[in-house]
Amino acid sequence: MSEPRICLVTGSTSGIGLAIARALHADGYRVVLNGFGEPDAIAAIRSELAVDGVPADYDGADLSRPAAVEALVRGVVDRHGRIDVLVNNAGIQHTARIEAFPPEKWDQILAINLSAVFHATRAALPAMQACRSGRIVNIASVHGLVASVEKSAYVAAKHGVIGLTRVTALENAESGITCNAICPGWVLTPLVERQIEARAQARGCDRDTAARELLAEKEPTLRFTRAEDVAAMVVFLTGPAGDNVTGSAFTLDGGWTAR
Ligand code: NAD
Repeated sequence: MSEPRICLVTGSTSGIGLAIARALHADGYRVVLNGFGEPDAIAAIRSELAVDGVPADYDGADLSRPAAVEALVRGVVDRHGRIDVLVNNAGIQHTARIEAFPPEKWDQILAINLSAVFHATRAALPAMQACRSGRIVNIASVHGLVASVEKSAYVAAKHGVIGLTRVTALENAESGITCNAICPGWVLTPLVERQIEARAQARGCDRDTAARELLAEKEPTLRFTRAEDVAAMVVFLTGPAGDNVTGSAFTLDGGWTAR
């Protein structure tokens, strides 16, 4: 029996990253988990994603620290001798107008949402290049393509992620390594739930009204994109049909960027 392929999904203890980890596990990968959370909840995810009775690896590296990102990726390669798929998914949000945007929040968002993608990619590429095969998927956002008010750091970071995706793709175009970005619109995860709650509070309305308003403003289908659909796109990009797909940014945004 051949060894299972190895994938690392950053920020996979919640939301989109967890859906991706589940989908890659179902596709036959041994998943290495990363992200914050309650120890019991993380232990349950590790057991759920076990392979041959061995719980999924977990490394709680704080991706705002470059050395920790590098150690996370090197740890995967040292332990398994390879890294077949890297999904750079971890991300955070903070909303405020530029003049009120705390500089430390700017630094933190740039560190986690953009610089960590560079550090992880930089650490993973030599192992992928050595076996002339690898897939890197960066979870960007529609905010990598268009802007919204009060999201300066997030929009800047996600635009950066798409640029970095293209450079990674070009530099490795003949190496059997692909790199692509996925750009979801609204996905109902804790990251967005916090924005819905903030909106409900600011408008003095209930949570469901705030959620409907959020969709009406941006997403013409008036539906949230599902985390499972983002995960299905990752499975496509990491599977055989994704062999010659590289340097692209795929929107899953209910028509957001068609306007
Ligand atoms: P989430 O808050 O549900 O999950 C974020 C994950 O990142 C968690 O596992 C968290 O522990 C981890 N994380 C946060 N800071 C970290 C750090 N310093 N080190 C390590 N891990 C850290 O959010 P989500 O909505 O699932 O977002 C996942 C990705 O998808 C993000 O990059 C986000 O920008 C992007 N995205 C989300 C949406 C959406 O509508 N939810 C839309 C477009 C793009």
